[in-house]
Amino acid sequence: RNYTKDEILRFAEEANVRYVRLQFTDLLGVIKNVEIPVDQLGKALDNKIMFDGSSIEGFVRIEESDMYLVPDLATWLVFPWGHELGKVARLICDIHLPDGSPFPGDPRGVLKRVLQQSKDLGFDAFNVGPEPEFFLFKLDSEGKPTTEVNDEGGYFDWAPLDLGENCRRDITLTLESMGFEIEASHHEVAPGQHEIDFQYADALETADNIATFRLVVKTIARQYGLHATFMPKPVYGINGSGMHCHMSLFRNGGNAFYAAEDEMGLSETARHFLAGILQHAKGFTAVTNPLVNSYKRLVPGFEAPCYVAWSLKNRSPLVRIPAARGLSTRIEVRSPDPSANPYLAIAAMLASGLDGIQNGTPLADPTNRNIYIMTAEEKAEAGIHSLPENLGDAINELSRDEVVRTALGDHVFHHFVEAKRLEWDIYRTQISKWESDQYLSLY
Ligand code: GLU
Ligand code: MG
Ligand code: MG
Repeated sequence: RNYTKDEILRFAEEANVRYVRLQFTDLLGVIKNVEIPVDQLGKALDNKIMFDGSSIEGFVRIEESDMYLVPDLATWLVFPWGHELGKVARLICDIHLPDGSPFPGDPRGVLKRVLQQSKDLGFDAFNVGPEPEFFLFKLDSEGKPTTEVNDEGGYFDWAPLDLGENCRRDITLTLESMGFEIEASHHEVAPGQHEIDFQYADALETADNIATFRLVVKTIARQYGLHATFMPKPVYGINGSGMHCHMSLFRNGGNAFYAAEDEMGLSETARHFLAGILQHAKGFTAVTNPLVNSYKRLVPGFEAPCYVAWSLKNRSPLVRIPAARGLSTRIEVRSPDPSANPYLAIAAMLASGLDGIQNGTPLADPTNRNIYIMTAEEKAEAGIHSLPENLGDAINELSRDEVVRTALGDHVFHHFVEAKRLEWDIYRTQISKWESDQYLSLY
């Protein structure tokens, strides 16, 4: 709900708020904030708080670096932790330039721009429901994160409640107290791995929620002496962490992906959207899977996708269509991981789907076989391509994809590619332990 300035000021007073964090995310999805004492809140609500963007990743501009924080009043939230003598609240902000125009490097602004395109095409909502997975690891004696887990639980196990389980329950309760509607919370396949699914919402709210979610998970884990990580593949040889995204477009309050008369229950809109997703999947992978480490997850054998295909049942392809129909008709894109900048990832996927709708892109047949065991010839015959195998390839694919590039806009595209190329170049010149173990004595 969108509050008024006066309501926010009253809420702050009633909740005994002392500080307000004006929150935004940088290009890489890292939460940043400017904290103001509550007596500055009125000024903030008048969009008068300025900051210097030059030290924020991806915000640097040649001309000038002064930027304005424009709070979105619908995002007012009082953090449940903190001192009774003074609470801390937050407002998520858009970034504007001194002339009042949106700053093109603001990831939230990028998503807003693509969402506007879907509105212009007649859709009133792009609903996204994320399934973020994460690991809880022990801290060492110096308080540094390890990759040691504290439980041996497995998928949906009814294990005796251990530290990890208690911690996850506390995370869930905290999220609920902050207004999140939790749909499921369970142990995942790997030891120490958990998943918490929260209710879908329109894309902007979901992206805000993902940012808040990561903050809450990390904060509560610390209170249990644990480290929560959204690193996509923290441990070799076991499942990595994904962030599957369920999505659907709504029009006039109805689900535009559903068609009762169709044999699969899918509308033309759903088919073209899905075709667009498949067509641009290689192009948006750098955005949905932005780390060197993301590509250690996208390998066969760990329930993560590595091929561009879709299916009604099988879980190995990139896109699965869950069985629910009617209002719940949706597609599940399984490649994104929780290290992605949620605003950019959702914007890139939406733009891809909309491109499919606008061009009436035909949808390839579903692959209801296990792609992992198909031979290279069988895959070639079925037209099944692989997702990029490393960050370097993913950046090249992104650079070639006009639709995803346009969705990001020039500023974000150039800064993103520059940062990611650097990351890839540093990584690929390192000598890993595996290489010395393998080669040092043999050659
Ligand atoms: N952890 C798996 C992944 O990397 C997903 C497991 C699941 O189906 O929830 O995507
Ligand atoms: Mg899962
Ligand atoms: Mg899933």
